Amino acid sequence: MTAALSRLPGLGPRSARRAVLWLIKRRETALVQLLDALGAVQGALVECEVCGNIDTHDPCAICADPRRDMRALCVVEEVADLWALDRARLFTGKYHVLGGRLSALDGVRPEDLAIDRLLARVEQGGVDEVVLAMNATLEGQTTAHYLAERLEAFPVRITQLAHGLPVGGELDYLDEGTLAQAIRARRPVA
Ligand SMILES: [Zn+2]
Repeated sequence: MTAALSRLPGLGPRSARRAVLWLIKRRETALVQLLDALGAVQGALVECEVCGNIDTHDPCAICADPRRDMRALCVVEEVADLWALDRARLFTGKYHVLGGRLSALDGVRPEDLAIDRLLARVEQGGVDEVVLAMNATLEGQTTAHYLAERLEAFPVRITQLAHGLPVGGELDYLDEGTLAQAIRARRPVA
């Protein structure tokens, strides 16, 4: 169990051992609850065909929510970024998950990401603003520039997160205040 847990992102062997000991001490309560939750998740989670979010429904709860603003589309690298932004609760539009970032080093090309699906969504119409919410890393910014170029063909406003974001900052690790500030002060892509 320690070996399995230590493969989780952000959990090294030491934290995994501590988590296992903690669970063993609470075998009847926390461990049983965790096993139930994991079992339920295994069968229930699907990828949203519209935006790439992971949820128990397809389309996901965000895509299906009529109160959300269809005219604003926020593009993120990973599902974790979507969840981080949505926790901050300042963006009321819809999302699009690319499934990664362009990377010459890792051999990630445009066709490896959900870019065609993004362009198709914008082409359908009804979108006024596309927010490029890439991480403030070199690869994130390369991806944002590439997307901005591809989106130029459409009559949409293209904005990006304000750079209160620390350089190298990954959205998922930012506190909600910083994220909220970055969304609120978003600016047009130059
Ligand atoms: Zn969705």
